[in-house]
Amino acid sequence: MPSDIIFFSIDVVNLYGSIPLDEAVEAVREKLQEHVTDINMFGLTPDDVCTLLDQCLRNNVFCFDKDFYKQKVGIAMGNPCAPPVAILFLDRLERLALQNREAKPDLLLRYIDDYGGIWTHGEEALKDFLAYLNSLHPTVKFTMEFTKQDSGVPYLDTLVSVVSDNDITFLATELYIKPTNSGIVLHFSSAHPSSTKISMARNQFRRAIAVSSNKDREEKSVTKMWNLLSSNGYPENVLRRTLREAKAGGTKRGSTKEDVDGFLTLPYVDEELLSRVKGVVRRSGMNIRLAWRNKNKLKNALVRSAFSPPLCPGASRGCYCCKCGLAGRCTTKNVVYRITCTLCKEQPAVYVGESKRPVRLRFNEHVRNMLSATPDTPLGDHFRVAHGQLSLDRGADLPLTVEILHQALDYPDRKIAESITIRDSEPSLNERLVSWPII
Ligand SMILES: [Zn+2]
Ligand SMILES: [Zn+2]
Repeated sequence: MPSDIIFFSIDVVNLYGSIPLDEAVEAVREKLQEHVTDINMFGLTPDDVCTLLDQCLRNNVFCFDKDFYKQKVGIAMGNPCAPPVAILFLDRLERLALQNREAKPDLLLRYIDDYGGIWTHGEEALKDFLAYLNSLHPTVKFTMEFTKQDSGVPYLDTLVSVVSDNDITFLATELYIKPTNSGIVLHFSSAHPSSTKISMARNQFRRAIAVSSNKDREEKSVTKMWNLLSSNGYPENVLRRTLREAKAGGTKRGSTKEDVDGFLTLPYVDEELLSRVKGVVRRSGMNIRLAWRNKNKLKNALVRSAFSPPLCPGASRGCYCCKCGLAGRCTTKNVVYRITCTLCKEQPAVYVGESKRPVRLRFNEHVRNMLSATPDTPLGDHFRVAHGQLSLDRGADLPLTVEILHQALDYPDRKIAESITIRDSEPSLNERLVSWPII
């Protein structure tokens, strides 16, 4: 590198909050028009896409403390459109900026809104360049850091420094951890498969090594990562082992989608169950990839994307499901439920089932079967045999109660919860008391 080289990083101040929506949509329109013949537009014109995009960007409503708010300026963070729209917006802005500029960066890199680059026109001209960038747009503002004699500049997860040694100038890099970094990674005591934690630690060491430009810097990067992992509960022997593996290199990849017969995702309970299930899979001779999922995350308890659960659509006409025990919760989906006949006092008549759809829909089917004593249905058969044909007055209470036993994550979770409930409680109206075959 030339000896007067400067490495700089540029940040956009509050990017999402400062992009005017009209200009963002225009930037997308220009790109679409430019590439309209190269991409699958699914029958839409660039204008159609922009109309839809405009709706997505403009109607971001959120609820806090029972009041509703609509964002007026900028793009909502967390909106899935936001990153690509921001990228296209900055792409347009920077092309306009560089078009008529004499002193330009020798290299300009951007990752979403993080710029890094190389400058060889001196410090004063670089400061002028920043001032110029800040004069381009009324709301989009930039801040800059650049390398000095003895200080580096952070860019993404690296610290970049200009180093001169024996008349040779080069860029040196090492791992950078922001001072504001929470220092929190997957904790060693967290309820995850231990292989997940080990490979996370190994990958972090790999990254620390990969971003380091020489052995000295690698040592520093590894120490930073070691301290971070250590403060997250990783014991020394685990760190030593994962670091050794990371240094040994080699990219041991798991099987890819092509060479397995299928994937099975199960809730993670503990290491013992994990290894027993692994054993079953191995003995089955089937080429199945196992994945483990944690359902009890803080996020599930704290974040809800819906404003409130959907309202009961049958409230005005009288909803059976609400009246029989699920008042206000009859639209809950993906559940294992239990129905109990209230006419049977001595020997409780109980049915356990599962439903992907709102539980009220499934419950209403049971009620219809009960009222018309449909043969070969659990409630139809029970009421015909035990209580004779039922004739209920209009609006009378049904002789049933319904409860939600388990709110499931997905199909396997629901089926497993149903199987376990049926096995443990042997409900009298269920025909099959066997477990759902997992494999
Ligand atoms: Zn209802
Ligand atoms: Zn009964």
